[in-house]
Amino acid sequence: DYPEIASPARTQAILNRYRLSAKKSLGQNFLVDLNILKKIVETANLTKNDNVIEIGPGIGGLTEQLAKVANQVLAFEIDQNLLPVLAETLAPYDNIEIINQDILKANLPEIVGQKLTPDQPLKVVANLPYYITTPIVMDLLANPVKFDSIVVMMQKEVADRLNAVPGTKAYGSLSVIVQQQNEVEISFIVPKTAFIPQPKVDSAIVRLSQKSSGDEQPFNHKRFVGFVRGCFMHQRKTLWNNLLGIFGKEPPAKAHIKSILADLAIDPTDRPEQLAVQQFVSLANAFHKVGL
Ligand code: SAM
Repeated sequence: DYPEIASPARTQAILNRYRLSAKKSLGQNFLVDLNILKKIVETANLTKNDNVIEIGPGIGGLTEQLAKVANQVLAFEIDQNLLPVLAETLAPYDNIEIINQDILKANLPEIVGQKLTPDQPLKVVANLPYYITTPIVMDLLANPVKFDSIVVMMQKEVADRLNAVPGTKAYGSLSVIVQQQNEVEISFIVPKTAFIPQPKVDSAIVRLSQKSSGDEQPFNHKRFVGFVRGCFMHQRKTLWNNLLGIFGKEPPAKAHIKSILADLAIDPTDRPEQLAVQQFVSLANAFHKVGL
């Protein structure tokens, strides 16, 4: 009986035996604190009825803990060199499938459709590669596959942006786009000492779950994302100036912008970070309505 993969001694032994050095370019920082792994799994609230998508299994430390409590685990790992390692470390589990693909390029609807039972809950749990945290989160939220919850570790600074309230420095397009669809909760902080090798900054576990509200919804998610990014293109400029940047400075566009802001009682001299999430939805929909 081996100790668990994520115990510091076993992780170090695996790295030595395969002569692996963690690849910085792929954001490889392995968690070696079993208490933290168990807390992540608890945060995800998994049962034997849940299927899980993991992004970046690494050498399998989190994957093992997920396999113990979930039904099926699909783990996407980009680094081919880790495949033989994972084949060995995860051999005792028959409910894990490793998929050697870049998560940003994978066709999730197809893979999920082929490999998982449709009527079972599907959750994402991952210790994300930090160099692509934002694109991964954005992709998951835009994906036609819907997740019952997303529990992911990321840099604390990015977690703060996801969770930021209007009027603060951290509040930006990412906050608006994520909060529009999701309840955001920072579950707990993970010190950099919990990893081999240690990253430069502390991390946070973030839990996203679909909001169930009667609020007005964006007419189209992708267009909403583009609109919000446009509004925050120049953070220090007024909303008015950013809107001109999106829709142009021609007199008809200006007239629409003016009347829509007036209708929604939004001050054109506000900075984008002063607007609430729902105000961005109303704005995007109002511009869409007049064909902008
Ligand atoms: N799950 C392990 C743990 O918690 O110790 C490793 C997490 S490590 C922070 C991130 C992992 O994501 C690495 O194994 C890395 O190779 C993998 N990765 C990086 N870019 C990826 C991508 N585009 N698609 C899938 N996996 C990726």
